[in-house]
Amino acid sequence: LLILGIETSCDETAAAVIKDGKDILSNVVASQIESHKRFGGVVPELASRHHVEQITLVIEEALNEAKVALTDIDGIAVTKGPGLVGALLVGVNAAKALAFAHNIPLVPVHHIAGHIYANRLITELKFPLLALVVSGGHTELVYMEKHGAFKVIGETLDDAAGEAYDKVARTLKLPYPGGPHIDRLAQKGNAVLDLPRAWLEEGSYDFSFSGLKSAVINTLHNAEQRGEVIASEDVAASFQASVIEVLTEKTVRAAKEYNVHQVLLAGGVAANQGLRTALQEAFQPLSEIELIIPPLNLCTDNAAMIAAAGSVLFEQGKRGKMDMNAYPGLDIENF
Ligand code: ATP
Ligand code: MG
Ligand code: FE
Repeated sequence: LLILGIETSCDETAAAVIKDGKDILSNVVASQIESHKRFGGVVPELASRHHVEQITLVIEEALNEAKVALTDIDGIAVTKGPGLVGALLVGVNAAKALAFAHNIPLVPVHHIAGHIYANRLITELKFPLLALVVSGGHTELVYMEKHGAFKVIGETLDDAAGEAYDKVARTLKLPYPGGPHIDRLAQKGNAVLDLPRAWLEEGSYDFSFSGLKSAVINTLHNAEQRGEVIASEDVAASFQASVIEVLTEKTVRAAKEYNVHQVLLAGGVAANQGLRTALQEAFQPLSEIELIIPPLNLCTDNAAMIAAAGSVLFEQGKRGKMDMNAYPGLDIENF
């Protein structure tokens, strides 16, 4: 089974070919980070224009690297949402054009389902499982009883984890995207600041990061007014400690309550070294639960993960019609 995956939901133009749902034959990612950097974040118009410029080349490269022709492809999996509408439309229209011209079935994929299925590229999934999704736009705990069935048991009530990282990074005058910079600084600093942990109501699996973000900004502002300087390394370490403590505690608690066999880490923030280490330490004593953490290039946006999810959905009979549209607010429980 050969699936071509296409991903253009944000600022990465990506295409990949996956064999039998798990073997990566090619995984091409054209990042636009350099273009958006000087604006301090993703500029939607710019993103769409770059996708239009890159999409054909990226798809051709993915097919060439995989040494397959379009006529060998069984299905085209494309990110239908969520994301920036103008960006999503480029991928959806490219997929539709190829599907129509070569009579290949289309498979609509939810971007976060893709992030979760990045784990299928490194191991067989064992159900029931729990995925901790931490990305630029999402922070949620997703329970899966079987392939293709996603149930959100907790999610952020305000900012996503990645969003909080990027905002705190901006306050520290670090370049966009700030997550990796905070991660690097945090490893050199000490968590000396007393910052809040948003546990929310007892037993809740929801998250909240905007209070933490404001606490960091206020602490820095107050220090500045008193003429004090707090080392960026210590700010980063304190912020990261708060984020990681809450993510880890809630993930462990949910994994136990739902009796899962596996816990998967997913999304761009899954690249965070501090989070990866904390989860490994937390799950090490729980021998009945297997913790899966993807390599860094499968954590951030890519099309291999879209093709991996698409492969499973394809086999389940899921198809997109020729009038399929991009859907910025797509729901993972029902797409
Ligand atoms: P979504 O997947 O929710 O639609 P997105 O696709 O924009 O959002 P991703 O590409 O999955 O998000 O992840 C990007 C985010 O990951 C950014 O916020 C970035 O700062 C963060 N990130 C990347 N590496 C790290 C790291 N090492 N530590 C913390 N955050 C990181
Ligand atoms: Mg991105
Ligand atoms: Fe993403």
